[in-house]
Amino acid sequence: MKLMNQLTQQLRALDEQDLTRKRRTVDTPCGPRVTVDGRELLAFCSNDYLGLANHPRLKLALQEGAAIHGVGSGASHMISGHGRAHAMLEERLAEFVGGHLESARALTFCTGYMANLAIITGLTAADREAEIFSESLNHASLIDGARLSRARVRVYPHADLEKLGAMLEASNAATKLVVTDSVFSMDGDLAPLPELLALCEQHGAWLVIDDAHGFGVLGDHGRGALEHFNLRSPNLVYMGTLGKAAGVGGAFVAAHETVIETLIQKARPYIFTTATPPALAHALLTSIELIEGQEGIKRRAHLGALVAQLDDGQVGLKLHRWQRLPSTTAIQPILIGDNAETMRAGAALYEQGLWVGTIRPPTVAPGTSRLRVTLSAGHSSMEVARLIAALNVLALERTSDESR
Ligand SMILES: *Cc1c(COP(=O)(O)O)cnc(C)c1O
Repeated sequence: MKLMNQLTQQLRALDEQDLTRKRRTVDTPCGPRVTVDGRELLAFCSNDYLGLANHPRLKLALQEGAAIHGVGSGASHMISGHGRAHAMLEERLAEFVGGHLESARALTFCTGYMANLAIITGLTAADREAEIFSESLNHASLIDGARLSRARVRVYPHADLEKLGAMLEASNAATKLVVTDSVFSMDGDLAPLPELLALCEQHGAWLVIDDAHGFGVLGDHGRGALEHFNLRSPNLVYMGTLGKAAGVGGAFVAAHETVIETLIQKARPYIFTTATPPALAHALLTSIELIEGQEGIKRRAHLGALVAQLDDGQVGLKLHRWQRLPSTTAIQPILIGDNAETMRAGAALYEQGLWVGTIRPPTVAPGTSRLRVTLSAGHSSMEVARLIAALNVLALERTSDESR
């Protein structure tokens, strides 16, 4: 019973710090308008940035995929699970982002989490002395990949090119991997990728870009951070997720064919897992078509207009007490600081039918709890106006705790 007592204590401690996480069961498909416990809510918390998750054409494509390819893949990619749909999707993705790389190939993964573990462990396996330079606000999956790799890890402060440059200069590792989110998932700002790439080229390092929040959203055709910054280099390893803007699920890595072949041969999160249902790969072909074409262009323009609405001097956010973090992306964090106050703000919005993410440690640093508003092309400008009005009022009020 010792373990059970420890677990109970640990859970109680979380509760006392307002750190218990609760799931809500959603009865409707992912979208701006959802139903939870019979209540209709306007949701500003999904990563479905283009509003594709419930798109009629994607739903049809998934049905068609199941009709053609069946449901399960039945095995890992190395055994018999690699189907025609997976192969077609890899080719399509390589073509989609390949203009920014050299001799590009793409490899699909079940999740972005696994893709990140695969990249970092796979690329450092050949060199025991490899060194990883990791941005301090990186996603958990990059951190876990670095831990799992057993390579030396050095964390550089957020967006600090000078510190990173000094670290690279001081390193005598033959293999150097700089690893960063492109759009920081809890802050919404962009990594200085052109400058990072220049530093990497100067020091013979590889740049690994996690574009979970950029793929499909950034760039005129949705080719993500690569297109937004017009990056081009043979030393880039690009990871895009397919469950956020692409509206389906899974992830891919695009890089030089030698890098991809290495992941196929060496990366355990690729090798030792069952391939995703081929119907998902089939649906993703339609997703890429939507992202690249007129529909994607229209949706990205609308999303941009919604972000601008928050910034507008007349009708935008005017937060009396809280601090907005500078972000030009669909991720719009409002820094509150205190865990309990963040939860109260989230609950007050929820009472008004507005569902906004509340983010606490360990996802963010202690003392930086925040509301994380995410916008989607599925929102109307009226709906965003409703959110703005509610936030502006809430940021004026004293909570009962503070006025006591
Ligand atoms: C969501 C996310 C991932 C993980 O991708 P999944 O497909 O959800 O596993 C990786 N990196 C970042 C920055 C993310 O936001």
